[in-house]
Amino acid sequence: MQKPVYLDHHATTPVDARVLEAMLPFFGPKFGNAASRGHSFGWEAETAVELARKRVAELAGAAPREMVFTSGATESDNLALKGTMEACRSKGNHLVTMATEHKAVLDAARRLERQGCRLTVLPPRRDGLLSLDRLRDAILPETVLVSVMHANNEIGVIQPVRAIGAICREKGVLFHCDAAQAFGKVPIRVEDDHIDLMSVSAHKMYGPKGIGALYVRRRNPRVELAAQMDGGGHEFGMRSGTLNVPAIVGFGEACAICAHEMAEEAARLAALRDRLKAQIEAGLDRVYVNGSMVHRLPGNLNMSFAGVTGESLLMSLPDVALSTGSACTSATVEPSYVLKALGVGDDLSHSSLRFGLGRFNTAEEVDYVARRVTEAVRKLRALSPML
Ligand SMILES: *Cc1c(COP(=O)(O)O)cnc(C)c1O
Repeated sequence: MQKPVYLDHHATTPVDARVLEAMLPFFGPKFGNAASRGHSFGWEAETAVELARKRVAELAGAAPREMVFTSGATESDNLALKGTMEACRSKGNHLVTMATEHKAVLDAARRLERQGCRLTVLPPRRDGLLSLDRLRDAILPETVLVSVMHANNEIGVIQPVRAIGAICREKGVLFHCDAAQAFGKVPIRVEDDHIDLMSVSAHKMYGPKGIGALYVRRRNPRVELAAQMDGGGHEFGMRSGTLNVPAIVGFGEACAICAHEMAEEAARLAALRDRLKAQIEAGLDRVYVNGSMVHRLPGNLNMSFAGVTGESLLMSLPDVALSTGSACTSATVEPSYVLKALGVGDDLSHSSLRFGLGRFNTAEEVDYVARRVTEAVRKLRALSPML
């Protein structure tokens, strides 16, 4: 077993060896600019980019022309929110999102609000899911866009995307979905799910960092989007800038691998995750799962351990790489805003760990981590018996 054991796959994933191999020629002899129309170097790059675009689109059930390459899900989220709110000003200026969204959505939404948009931020239910009745009530005649993520990056909770999409379609508003954590892990079909815009990122699915895409629906309805990056008019005029050909090739390969292995890998990860949970629960009392266990990514487990802080736990687990839900600012440790939104109290939200299992984790590693976590919690609780 290699140490430290990596259980932080929601933060990023290692590049699959097959992905790296596909990319390498594009750092070497195949260095052309995909926009060079006059010679074979350009054609070779363009051909590779278009094959990758097809592979990314296929994993979403979209047409290749609907996939706009970006630098990642942060940029895709920004382009989706700012681009539609700008393009649809004549329809209205109201945006609906959720309190448990990624900062890339929440901060973009807050900026739009400062610029005059009306913003509704819906709270989740205690299990992390969006209430569909609340969503229905929040949509107004001047609502342009609803932005709700697919799977949450902290608690792994999967939203009822198809039902949300159906409500948006019925009400005639656009639906943007941040699928950075879900894409390649669980099935997504933009038609059946009524998704109009969708953010995805290669480095969350065993591809390289710094590349992602925004799905932009072309028909039924055609989404109007104002570009936020001006220049040479690349990517159908929606995102200018010379394409990162090696990264795009790697992203395409990563999507092809996920398409092929998704079902089997999801079952394997869910079994490993349940094994981890069962062992921790067998060894410790006062442990609580955050978020629904039913509607959840196969590789995610988020647990609170009463009486210990996530930070002290991490420090006693130097050979396990995982995350607490908390964000460390310079002086203080802020509990996770996601757990807070679920109604988890301050103490328990300070005591959470996020386990993110991935493609190369083994049962042996899971058993090791369960044992180490159990020992560490027992030791820390013995040191601070008043908690
Ligand atoms: C990682 C992540 C992002 C940001 O993606 P980058 O490609 O790293 O910019 C956005 N949303 C969610 C849900 C994520 O997990």
